[in-house]
Amino acid sequence: MATSVTPPIYQNFVHGRYLANQSGECFDVTNPATGEVIYQVEVADESVQEAAINSAKSGFSVWSAMTPIERSRILLKAVELLRTRNDELAKIEVLDTGKPWQEAECVDVQTGADVIEYFAGLAPAQVGQQQMVGNDFYYTRKEPLGVCAGIGAWNYPLQIACWKSGPALAAGNALLFKPSEETPLGALKLAEIFIEAGVPEGVFNVVQGAVEVGQWLTAHPEIEKVSFTGEVGTGKKVMASAASTLKDVTMELGGKSPLLVFNDADITEAVSAAMLGNFYTQGEVCTNCTRVFVQRDVYDQFTQELKSRTEQNIIAGDPLDPTVNLGALISANHQQLVLDYIQTGLNQGATLLTGGEALSPESAPNGYFVAPTVFVDCTDEMTIVKEEIFGPVMSILVFDDEAQVIARANDTHLGLAAGVFTKDIQRAHRVIHQLKAGICWINAYGNSPAEMPVGGYKHSGIGRENGVETLDNYTQTKSVYVGMDKIDSPF
Ligand code: NAD
Repeated sequence: MATSVTPPIYQNFVHGRYLANQSGECFDVTNPATGEVIYQVEVADESVQEAAINSAKSGFSVWSAMTPIERSRILLKAVELLRTRNDELAKIEVLDTGKPWQEAECVDVQTGADVIEYFAGLAPAQVGQQQMVGNDFYYTRKEPLGVCAGIGAWNYPLQIACWKSGPALAAGNALLFKPSEETPLGALKLAEIFIEAGVPEGVFNVVQGAVEVGQWLTAHPEIEKVSFTGEVGTGKKVMASAASTLKDVTMELGGKSPLLVFNDADITEAVSAAMLGNFYTQGEVCTNCTRVFVQRDVYDQFTQELKSRTEQNIIAGDPLDPTVNLGALISANHQQLVLDYIQTGLNQGATLLTGGEALSPESAPNGYFVAPTVFVDCTDEMTIVKEEIFGPVMSILVFDDEAQVIARANDTHLGLAAGVFTKDIQRAHRVIHQLKAGICWINAYGNSPAEMPVGGYKHSGIGRENGVETLDNYTQTKSVYVGMDKIDSPF
């Protein structure tokens, strides 16, 4: 007789512990590689929301009163715990997102830990300024904002939680974090780690749920800032809602980024970049170079190598198998959306170089897989060339000269990332300087170290994550004027 196993239920994390909701409302979380519900999560109802905001306010008063060095020491302890638990956390990411273990094991947790480490190191170095004004002078203080909110997407759940909490906490703020309802577990584990490291209760609370809980955060009058990662359309709603209480916002949104491959490029390297920038995390990466512009004289060489490497080197299957390098898409709905885009590409006249269908690998037959897909014969007006697909679908476009390709690459309302492959050093910089994108690579693609600010131009975002400037974005400047002479008063 088959026994049914009840999936575990996770609660919200408030004030250093798991907190039950009163409504009893839960949502299911599905492993995209199997289609099975792996656990449930309680929605942050009104009672949890109220507890979370009160806790964050009291956490903030304790945390912001500590010196930056004290905060730094505690955050570095959390970094150590993240690294020690790398495999346990990476496995959570694989089960939640469907991405391959071989990526999560060396990227997701580590790039999250790196960013917290980076901001923990920077926090004690943050200084104000002082200037004499006659005999008087003023000085400035970098003060934290207060209670901030982070709202995450599902493609890099733990990394996003770390990228938002690192600078927020280092600067002395408290953060209410809402992970995506598709991938809610990693943030809870991060909350446990912060508490174990010595972060005071309430400084990092995790509230769970979908749109309504997100809306509660963006409209709450006692939340000073929202850092959002997600789709452009959602970003606009978040910003509009945040405007009602004049919150500061950071928007990390979608893209439709170009990769320009010139005829003097190392073609094997350029193919590696195009594959990384379209098939890594099964195409669910915001910076993906989904528009690959190839100069006409190297088009045949480029597409032949791309086709053979895509067909020979990509292994789809159970993402926990360390040999698998293409995982499952996040959900059945998303898989269908990606397949619909592929059909639209065909309907509009693009030709499949390879891929184009759902996959049902032997080791994960019920997963939401889509074959790595490359379209040729694309034109700039096609839907697949204009809209973010967020799956493993690459469009190849041919170009003849530099000025033409720059204009075509910039002909989009998005501007997250861009890449150029050429051996001509002057052309590389000349072209990159004209591309309207916030994150650019020359003879590389996708690298995003903690030190480098990342964020979008145009509709791809507002503000930056990582890099020195992000710490400033979690502080506000207080100017203090000091009178040294008697007040010159007409009264
Ligand atoms: P999404 O916009 O659907 O959801 C993102 C988050 O917003 C989720 O937590 C969701 O619950 C919440 N949300 C939804 N409606 C809301 C509302 N009205 N108010 C407040 N919160 C709300 O995005 P997604 O599908 O989770 O993620 C994929 C998108 O994220 C892609 O467009 C991708 O390009 C983008 N992304 C961008 C970056 C970046 O750094 N620029 C990184 C990762 C993902």
